[in-house]
Amino acid sequence: MTNEKKERNKEFMELLRENGLKVTSQRLRVLEEITHKDAAISQPDLEKIVGKDIDRVTLYRILSSFEEKGIVHKIFDLNGTATYAMCTSNCTENHHHDQHIHFICSVCNSVFCLDEVSLPKITLPSHFALHSLAINAVGLCANCQKED
Ligand SMILES: [Zn+2]
Ligand SMILES: [Zn+2]
Ligand SMILES: [Zn+2]
Repeated sequence: MTNEKKERNKEFMELLRENGLKVTSQRLRVLEEITHKDAAISQPDLEKIVGKDIDRVTLYRILSSFEEKGIVHKIFDLNGTATYAMCTSNCTENHHHDQHIHFICSVCNSVFCLDEVSLPKITLPSHFALHSLAINAVGLCANCQKED
């Protein structure tokens, strides 16, 4: 294991403990894969990578518990498939505060968190209570622009 990987693993262990989740090799593996790419990753794609070691039901449970604990957040891509990305802000159990816009590539369907682009303030009619706001920007990612 490289030093960098050891360091990351330590962070992941801490993250799991902080959230009251037992440290298991499977949970560490899923965190490793979610943080591996810039883009968010879908459950089917995760399955392709970790499927030999983690069965579908376990993977589903791991993702749901991560989402519940505020470790990852879910974004739906253009096909309506749920993709997962790490939470960067102060998300806590059952309270996500990922106040950023997501970018979805219309060619490769990759989903990116634009952490630096915050959501605009919106005012709803007074009889609606806002719980969450999601804005997706759709266009071409850097890779797909190159191939043009
Ligand atoms: Zn979150
Ligand atoms: Zn693309
Ligand atoms: Zn995000």
